Amino acid sequence: MASFFSKRARWTGNDKESANPAIKIEELKILKNRLLLFKLSYPKKIKKYFLSNLFWVEYDHDLHGVSRGILQIPAVSNILPLAWAIGADILVKELDKTYLQSVEKIRLVMKTWYPKLPFSTKIYVDEVTSSSFSNKGYGLLFSGGIDSTTSYVRHKNAKPNLIMVWGADIPLDKKNFWEKARDKYSSFAERENIRINFIKTNMRQFINERLLTIKFGRYLSASWWGRLHHGIGLLGLTAPLTVTGHIGTILIAASVTRTRALKFHWGSHPLIDNAMSWADVKVVHDSDDLSRHEKIKYVLGDYIRKSNYYPTLRVCWSQFSDFNCGTCEKCLRTITVLALENIDPNKCGFNINGNFFDILKQNLIENRINIEHTFLWKDIQRHLPKVMNHNLYGCKDFFKWFKEFIIVENKPKRNFNINDLPFHVYYELPENLQKTIKRIREQQTPIMRIAKWVLSLISKL
Ligand SMILES: [Zn+2]
Repeated sequence: MASFFSKRARWTGNDKESANPAIKIEELKILKNRLLLFKLSYPKKIKKYFLSNLFWVEYDHDLHGVSRGILQIPAVSNILPLAWAIGADILVKELDKTYLQSVEKIRLVMKTWYPKLPFSTKIYVDEVTSSSFSNKGYGLLFSGGIDSTTSYVRHKNAKPNLIMVWGADIPLDKKNFWEKARDKYSSFAERENIRINFIKTNMRQFINERLLTIKFGRYLSASWWGRLHHGIGLLGLTAPLTVTGHIGTILIAASVTRTRALKFHWGSHPLIDNAMSWADVKVVHDSDDLSRHEKIKYVLGDYIRKSNYYPTLRVCWSQFSDFNCGTCEKCLRTITVLALENIDPNKCGFNINGNFFDILKQNLIENRINIEHTFLWKDIQRHLPKVMNHNLYGCKDFFKWFKEFIIVENKPKRNFNINDLPFHVYYELPENLQKTIKRIREQQTPIMRIAKWVLSLISKL
């Protein structure tokens, strides 16, 4: 028996081999054959990391016939990053053997990336299950952005089943926006004659992501979600679908090239995604041979020319009213690449006018754009042709000027957020005191309003 999981766990949790606190999946309820409801228990000392003891995932079709060893994967995958970071074990009644082996590989990779975190988690399983489906189909985690649309186009002939998740980059309270995205990409799937599945989950709401970022963000050098959680968490959600949808390969689109990934530790990464597996299902970190610019130039450009159809791209993370705000760094950069490659941005979900490139030039000169990753803008410069044969939205002069422009990093200023400090202290307080503070905060007394106003002023200093 490998050391990282054991059949010998008792449900009292008292005779584990390790001294780590245990997160136990007490119960898995399956409602209407499509909603998985996991009841969790954990010791008091780690309660602060959870906002709810219920983790749930709702699928859009019947999961009848999927074994419990597979159905537990969504929960374990979304608990694991937390367990790794705080040094907790996981107790679960049944779990797939291949999956257990794969997450052990991922743990060892991430342990080298984030050596300040314990990564001492053991998974105790009552019944280790094995399955083999010999499925031939493809599934693709899909958001509508450049990366996943490119992966779709490249695997078009395999008719990949698109999988969209509500509760990941689109929060659960953005219902209208989610419905807009769902309808848009349902039409896209219909047009392409492929299946699309929708998953709804509280994956980002049952854990205290804010506390985790405050506490561990400095060891991860960015957000909890980005660096640790999103890859394994999203992939885990797809496990039941691979059984019902006859999927043998799950694709997750790369966001950077494999050369860049060598220096870039990210929650979705070739070393993470390609290691993930369950039953005989394979996961592929897809299309990391191309840069973002190359994806637009060679894959999307070719698709648009051949089909005469412009897919709606959803690249923006800054807001949830339109698919793209058109003003954030990511939107500006994507519009620039599209225009350079003679693809009308306004046909792909953006909304620009004839002044766009004059304003962009001015903002670049005045260093008003939050350029965090200069390589993405330098990649555009690398693709500037000697002679431009089009002038979409008057971009010709802009690109002539842009060729010589020196791109400098302009990371958003991370103001010291004093609001985080009391928050950090708050979760160390006894539970009764936390409740009292919460009650006072909710009362919106004049004193609280003034205190909040003062805190907001200080945090802007
Ligand atoms: Zn935007």
